[in-house]
Amino acid sequence: LRVEDKLFLNRYLVDAGGPHIKVRPHEKPSPNLIALTRVCPAKCYELNDKGQVEITADGCMECGTCRVLCEASGEIEWNYPRGGFGVLFKFG
Ligand code: SF4
Repeated sequence: LRVEDKLFLNRYLVDAGGPHIKVRPHEKPSPNLIALTRVCPAKCYELNDKGQVEITADGCMECGTCRVLCEASGEIEWNYPRGGFGVLFKFG
């Protein structure tokens, strides 16, 4: 299977209104935040039309890459999803 095919097997239970990751408000993104748009394997981070980094956490695989990258800077707030929500790997 290709990686994309494997990712398609995952299922997500979205906690609507309670995203488990938030990007702290910023005027211009730091190099760290820009890097998030490239390193997230689920492509959850994007630049909006104001040039700021936004996250759509619905497809997050909870790999922790962004958490590690921003641990020192505190530019994102990262928590595990509430119980029962988030990614389900059992289908893969
Ligand atoms: Fe992307 Fe992994 Fe961060 Fe989720 S935990 S947003 S999959 S880098």
